[in-house]
Amino acid sequence: MTKPHVAILGLGIMGGGMAGRLLSAGFPLTVYNRTREKTLPLSNAGALVADTPRGASSRAEIVIAMVADDSASRQVWLGEHGALAGVQRGCVLMECSTLSVAWIRELAAASARSGCEFLDAPVTGTKPHAAAGELLFLVGGPADTLEKVRPILSVLGRNTIHFGPLGSGAIMKLVNNFLCGVQAASFAEALSLIDAAGMDRTKAVSVLTDGAPGSGIVKRVAASLGADDFDPNFLLRWMAKDLKYAMNEASAKGATLETAVPALHIFERAVARGHGSEDFSAVTKAFPQN
Ligand code: NAP
Repeated sequence: MTKPHVAILGLGIMGGGMAGRLLSAGFPLTVYNRTREKTLPLSNAGALVADTPRGASSRAEIVIAMVADDSASRQVWLGEHGALAGVQRGCVLMECSTLSVAWIRELAAASARSGCEFLDAPVTGTKPHAAAGELLFLVGGPADTLEKVRPILSVLGRNTIHFGPLGSGAIMKLVNNFLCGVQAASFAEALSLIDAAGMDRTKAVSVLTDGAPGSGIVKRVAASLGADDFDPNFLLRWMAKDLKYAMNEASAKGATLETAVPALHIFERAVARGHGSEDFSAVTKAFPQN
């Protein structure tokens, strides 16, 4: 069977890895990135490069966006020379960025007006998982649309969970990152107490990571700390963004995420101290003594 032509909008940490996977699997691929230099490794590997999202989507049967936030997503889909202006009717559009549910709904409505099918399909996993095709897709939208992109998802991911209606993938991703953000922030606070008490940091952290508090996220932050390596797999400022989107979504649903409030303050303090472009594990630098 011939493989469908895919367009990827956004070649950051995640989109770059996903594009590489699709190329290796032999999918015809067109890429777009706001900063053009990031397209070079992919064009060298055989991808077509478009100057605009519109140019990328006009060739594609499936269009994937993997960009920073709501405003970046709005820009690539609906901005001047946005992808929706170029899509062919019947195309499947897949928004994989971590975004607010309100924006996902608005985008899905705009996609329908362009005669396209739409899925919200954010992911868990980080840089190495994107590059190795080991993402987990959390999907909202029609089941028959999901079936049309299965061959793509099987190259990009280790599994796909269909949550049901439009926006349900986006909600699940915000719940996931709320919990990750709160755990990372509380670990940073725990470290500040360890330091203030004059404890041996290495011994104290090993007690935490080996014991009940040692969740995947706490272990991941502790590993960055131990190696003094804060090169980004997931930018700290995007974790702050996700906490904000999760809090907004909770309040829209009449729920509250009380622990998200101090966690977001801690992330914002780390951003204010100049760590927004480091890995989210640099939240451990939010406290003066850290
Ligand atoms: P990233 O490395 O910061 O890349 C962000 C991408 O968005 C870049 O291609 C950037 O273009 C583009 N962009 C930003 N603002 C834009 C605008 N106004 N117009 C057009 N393009 C714009 O981020 P990432 O780690 O790949 O994450 C992408 C999305 O996946 C985010 O929603 C993030 O929350 C989510 N996510 C990330 C991870 C992870 O571990 N990294 C895991 C799961 C989900 P430029 O190159 O021009 O800046």
